[in-house]
Amino acid sequence: MHNIADNLNRLHRQIQQIADRTGRDADKIQLLAVSKGQPATAIRTAYELGQRHFGENYLQEALEKQRALADLTDICWHFIGPLQSNKTRKVAEQFDWVHSVDRYRVAERLNTQRPATRGPLNVCLQVNIDSEVSKSGIAVAALPTLAEKIIELPHLNLRGLMCIPRSQPDLQRQRIAFAQLAAQLNTLRDSSRLARLDTLSMGMSDDLEAAILEGSTIVRIGTAIFGPRQTPG
Ligand SMILES: *Cc1c(COP(=O)(O)O)cnc(C)c1O
Repeated sequence: MHNIADNLNRLHRQIQQIADRTGRDADKIQLLAVSKGQPATAIRTAYELGQRHFGENYLQEALEKQRALADLTDICWHFIGPLQSNKTRKVAEQFDWVHSVDRYRVAERLNTQRPATRGPLNVCLQVNIDSEVSKSGIAVAALPTLAEKIIELPHLNLRGLMCIPRSQPDLQRQRIAFAQLAAQLNTLRDSSRLARLDTLSMGMSDDLEAAILEGSTIVRIGTAIFGPRQTPG
């Protein structure tokens, strides 16, 4: 279970099999290794096995690991945790993607703070797809307006939508929220300015099959690659 090589191989096989069953191209499904709570050595191990995309939730923890791994220059870092306005600068400077944008203020700050040398920052809008009171994410009803504003920001590249649905016990019920997120992306793409949105960041260790069946393009997998986390979160 904690053998990172075996886990990565198994996940790639699994993604391939699910893609084959639905006639999808497995190359369009990116495996994002969620490394929060894992040491830099575990990231290095996964990197040496060919993994390039890593997701982190907590800024300070991520910055420390990025320093320790600075020699791995082609790592692609994704920020996937809740993002407060006062933390945007380092995220804009140090990451390639942010999956958790849910307010214009945060987007505007990321846009202003993105270094010109780095090219546009890829962003997804986090959607509170189950309308849970305690969850981050924008309400579905507010999504089109936010997307139309963010697409105007020149240093951001709005890529699509992300969700963390309420956990469900079986595949059929897991599929419902993912289908809803996919439908929201399709609706946005009807607007000509949003037609190039191409990303659905959905699916974690326990629901990746449901997510891929509903069109996920990035699955965010932590424990199924690295085993239990060593720090809380
Ligand atoms: C922790 C986390 C994951 C990975 O969860 P696992 O269950 O360990 O696969 C994915 N996405 C987000 C936003 C997370 O916070």
